Amino acid sequence: MSPSFSLTLLPGDGIGPEIMAVAVDVLTAVGQRLDLRFKFQSALIGGAAIEATGSPLPATTLEICRASDAVLLAAIGGYQWDQLPRSQRPETGLLALRAGLGLFANLRPATILPQLIDASSLKREVVEGVDIMVVRELTGGIYFGTPRGIFTTEDGQQRAINTMAYTPGEIDRIGRVAFQIAQKRRQQLCSVDKANVLEVSQLWRDRLTALAPNYPDVSLSHLYVDNAAMQLIRYPRQFDTLVTSNLFGDILSDAAAMLTGSIGMLPSASLGSSGPGVYEPVHGSAPDIAGQDQANPLAQVLSAAMMLRYGLDQPAAADLIEQAVTKVLDQGYRTGDIMSAGMTQVGCQAMGAALLSAIDSINIT
Ligand code: NAD
Repeated sequence: MSPSFSLTLLPGDGIGPEIMAVAVDVLTAVGQRLDLRFKFQSALIGGAAIEATGSPLPATTLEICRASDAVLLAAIGGYQWDQLPRSQRPETGLLALRAGLGLFANLRPATILPQLIDASSLKREVVEGVDIMVVRELTGGIYFGTPRGIFTTEDGQQRAINTMAYTPGEIDRIGRVAFQIAQKRRQQLCSVDKANVLEVSQLWRDRLTALAPNYPDVSLSHLYVDNAAMQLIRYPRQFDTLVTSNLFGDILSDAAAMLTGSIGMLPSASLGSSGPGVYEPVHGSAPDIAGQDQANPLAQVLSAAMMLRYGLDQPAAADLIEQAVTKVLDQGYRTGDIMSAGMTQVGCQAMGAALLSAIDSINIT
């Protein structure tokens, strides 16, 4: 019997439904070619959910997500909801989804596609061949540590406090995810910390080092975050998989992403220790181009490839999608955001149609 997967689709707002439609067509075509079955169920999140139910993450959406094998999310948000109280904003739905599914690991690949190399702000010889995965801890560290707040001291001075804290358990679980990701890549894991200054980083380094013998095929190295930031810009090709804490990962994953130069191409994944992960483009809902058939669907489609590789363990299907993306770029198709001289500008739907032709035509070995 062919493998079967139940997928929750969260199209969300803005360009979300347009790019999700392309991803669903692509998954269906890949399923037909590789004999995989996908059962899709759509649910509401973000502004669309606020309009229909008053909540940015209705309880039914979380239930549907929990019962599925993986969640494919497009994007949420729009100007019309920006004035609502924080608890009712679209972004709150996204944070509640991550918390509700226990997603503590955020995977952000930064891959330079040869066809888009000139979109990078760095020189061709620096970024050529870059293929980095940043694994960021998502639910701990200084963004969640207590005590936190702005206090008034006895002498009337204001004092603001945030706390960077990690337990061994929190470090070990993100460490294990990172080693496993590195095993599926080029078996090199670089852990980024500030162990020369911060005790929390010393514990981080000790725990990563202690995990390493369980993954003898992966070589582990350590870098201080200031050096890592410098090396990412100086010689990014040296990195395979990076693992780091919430704050450092927030910054380094955006820096790594910008090596590629184009937000419409960047997928991401958020994983927990069990249960479904959430796969989504890095970009937002792009309300400025929503409904105009101008959106680049490739980050969404590459998010579907990540879902197949890291969530459903279907590397051949992930490969097929990534090859199709390479092929349409080789054929010169570009949406407006990645357009350059001599290429053929297409809309979201035409890019989707080109992907389907590519999937049909690629030889499967
Ligand atoms: P954005 O990523 O939506 O857009 C930034 C710029 O990039 C815009 O000019 C947009 O047209 C362009 N762009 C983004 N994705 C594109 C695509 N696939 N194809 C072509 N062009 C693309 O960020 P923003 O404008 O700061 O935010 C818009 C809304 O999205 C806000 O409500 C924000 O809160 C929300 N947002 C959501 C997420 C998410 O869902 N994870 C992430 C970031 C922002």
